[in-house]
This record gives sequence, C-alpha cells and structure tokens, in this order.
Amino acid sequence: LSDRLSGILDKLTRRGALTEQDVSEAMREVRRALLEADVALDVVKDFVERVKEKAVGQEVVKSVAPGQMVIKIVHDELVETLGREPEPIDLAAAVPVVMMLVGLQGSGKTTTTAKIARRLQTRDKQKVLMASLDTRRPAAQEQLKILGEQTDVATLPIVEGEDPVTITKRAMDAARRGGYDVLMLDTAGRTHIDEELMAETAAIEKASTPHETLLVADALTGQDAVNLAQNFDECVKLTGIVLTRIDGDGRGGAALSMRAVTGKPIKLLGTGEKIDALEDFHPDRIANRILGMGDVVSLVEKAIENVEVEKAEAAAKKMRKGTFDLDDLSDQLEQMKKLGGMGGVLSMLPGIGKIKKQIDAANLDDSVLNRQQAIISSMTKKERKNPKVLNASRKKRVAAGSGTSVQEINKLVKMHRQMADMMKKVGKRGGLGGLFGGGG
Ligand code: GDP
Ligand code: MG
Repeated sequence: LSDRLSGILDKLTRRGALTEQDVSEAMREVRRALLEADVALDVVKDFVERVKEKAVGQEVVKSVAPGQMVIKIVHDELVETLGREPEPIDLAAAVPVVMMLVGLQGSGKTTTTAKIARRLQTRDKQKVLMASLDTRRPAAQEQLKILGEQTDVATLPIVEGEDPVTITKRAMDAARRGGYDVLMLDTAGRTHIDEELMAETAAIEKASTPHETLLVADALTGQDAVNLAQNFDECVKLTGIVLTRIDGDGRGGAALSMRAVTGKPIKLLGTGEKIDALEDFHPDRIANRILGMGDVVSLVEKAIENVEVEKAEAAAKKMRKGTFDLDDLSDQLEQMKKLGGMGGVLSMLPGIGKIKKQIDAANLDDSVLNRQQAIISSMTKKERKNPKVLNASRKKRVAAGSGTSVQEINKLVKMHRQMADMMKKVGKRGGLGGLFGGGG
C-alpha cells in the first residue's frame, strides 16, 4: 500500500490549496486502506465523504505533497471519529457499582472481567466481587473462579442449577453485604446473536441496573462488528466498548466501525492473554494502525512545525531591521503560545540567553499573552504601526476595549519599545555582545 501511495505522492508536489482531484486520488488509497483494515463498507463510505468535504480547498503546507496533506487530514478525522481522548471506566455511582460485560462467545468477556477487576483492585484500591452468569458453557463459572484465585479477586460462590437472573440477584446481595465497591457481571455469550441471548442480557440488565455495560468484541471481527454492536446497543444500554485481541494481526478497523455506528466510546483494549494485558484506548495509536501510514502523518506534522519556525524566523528578520511594530509583536505572542513560551523568535537571534531569562522571569504564561493580544487588537491600525501616538485618552479607550488597564498598556508599550530598540542595536552591531554591560 505504501508503495502505491508514494507513487501518487511523488506525482503531486505542487503547492497551494488541495483540489478536488488531489483529494479524490489520495482518497482512493485511503479507501483501500480502510477496507483492508476491515472497516465496514458503510462506515468507509461515510468517512470518505466527510473527509473529502473537509479537505478540498485546504492549504497544502510547504514542503508537503498534496497527497500527504490529505493523509494528515484523514488521520486527524480518524482520531476525531475514534473519540480523541481516552475515556476511562466510570465508577461514579452508589456502591456497589455494577459493571456488566456482554458479547459473543469467545470474545474475551471472562478474561477481560478478570483483567478489569484486578486493575480496579490493585491500582484503584477498589474492593471487587466477580460473578459468572454463564450457565451455558460447562465450566464457565469455574473458569472465572480460577481467574479469581490467580488474581486474588473475590468471586461469587457457585451454586449449581441457578439461572442467570437468580445468580445476578444473589451477587447483588453478596456485594452489598460484603461491602464491595464494584460488582462485575460476566455474562454468557453465544456463537452468534439470537433472541434468547438478547432476552437474557436484557433480563440481567433489568435485575442489576449496571452503571457500566461494556461490549467486549474481538478486534479481528471486522465487518461483523457493526451488526454485533448495533444489536447489543438496541437490547441494552451500552456505555462503552472493550476491544480484545488487539495483539493479533488485525488492523483494528472494528474500532472505527463500532464507534461510528454506536457512538459509544472504546474504553479499553485487550492486548494479550495475560491478566495484565489491558490498556487504555488511545485513538491516535489506533488511527495509525488502521491507516498504516504513521510515517506520513509524522512527516506532515513536522512540516507544519517547520512552517511555524519559518514564521518566527521572518519575524526575527523584521526585528533586526527595526521595523518591528505591534502587529509583529502580536504575531510573536501567538508564536510564543504555540511553541510553548520562549521557543519563538528570540531564540532565533544570536546571543539571546540573557533576554530569554528576563522574559521567562516576566512569567509570560498564556493568560498574560492573551491579555496582551487583546490590548493590541483593541488598537487602531495606526496605533499598532506607531505606538507613539498612544496618548492618555487613546490608552483609556484601548483599556476599555480590551478589558485591561492603562498600566498594562504602558507595560506592553514599554516592552515593545525595548524589544524594538534592542533589535535595532543588534542589527547594527551584528550581535548582542555589549548590550548588557559587557556581560551578555
Ligand atoms: P468469553 O467466552 O467471551 O468469556 O471469552 P474468554 O475470556 O474465555 O476468552 C476466550 C479466549 O480468548 C481465551 O483463550 C483468552 O485467553 C483469549 N483472549 C481474551 N482476550 C484476549 C486478548 O486480548 N488477546 C489475546 N491474544 N487473547 C485473548
Ligand atoms: Mg466467558
């Protein structure tokens, strides 16, 4: 795939805005990548359309090919669709908080139950009780009991011949009486979705009103994931998804399909058979895996960073010429915010260490920078070009307009004057030496 793609990328090295043709060409490859990753067809179609709309007309960052730019846009949209931020298990409810795991047979419910329980108990200091409601598979309850012994998590004693709802009620009772924080219900699956399974799952939900109901699904399920998620979502109130076997060689397309269809967050990933093989879900990692183009994405991210640096360099040049006005200062403040403080223009100048320290000491955090920008944007064009015209009444007007004070404006103007003067001197002498009493 990468070969095919780079072929296209090589062809397209023109700069400017993305045309419909750029986008269509790149999207053909993206479409293929998504289908290869086993994303459901409908989801692919929707996704591709959405990205096309967003991408056409966007500026291509210098030194990046249009196709690469599209990949970056696709990646960002994938991350967005997958949910951007990790969403943890929610335990904010009256104890015992009930968590139910549902899914098909063999998807990893029992293993995941034990994984989550152990994590809650060791990391989050929760007292956890696990109960198996699987009366279908011989030895299923025994399996959870053994896992409980291995992980030192309590399990509900097994009583032969009970039905799932009866066990649920007994488990609720035991959790309350035993002072447990969390009760985990490991349900029975089926080889495929059927009415009986849905009815049983709904009855357990009714008897236990879980705070979290997690659908456990095999990452290798691919296309079927959509049906699965949809069916369960109609039958119980899903609060999230756990994707297992992410350690397998699937590309994780099921994550995108399930999230897109149900809108439910993917909360956790199963990454192996071992009990500690459980990870929080990171949308950007899965996005890279689905797309298989992590290299292109980081390349474009670098290029975008470089553009910021180039802007900073241009501002530094202006400073050296002494034509540094308040508009330039405002740009500079923006750079400081983006580059996290003093990474911006000043660091491009030779011998800057000492000024850097002074500015760092002035504590220019984002809120200060924002206020300074507000001041500048409340000025007229003339005032920004030539701050000398700022008399008392103009300053009052600007203070009112920006919600700041005349003192703050004075401070800003002074800072600007010092910077501009200094730059002029630097420009003439070709360095900063001597500016600070010979020490700098
Ligand atoms: P259940 O029928 O849904 O309860 O599934 P089980 O928890 O019994 O798991 C079925 C099989 O999948 C077991 O052999 C597990 O060890 C294995 N398994 C579960 N989760 C993972 C995972 O994240 N990665 C891998 N490689 N195997 C897993
Ligand atoms: Mg099981």
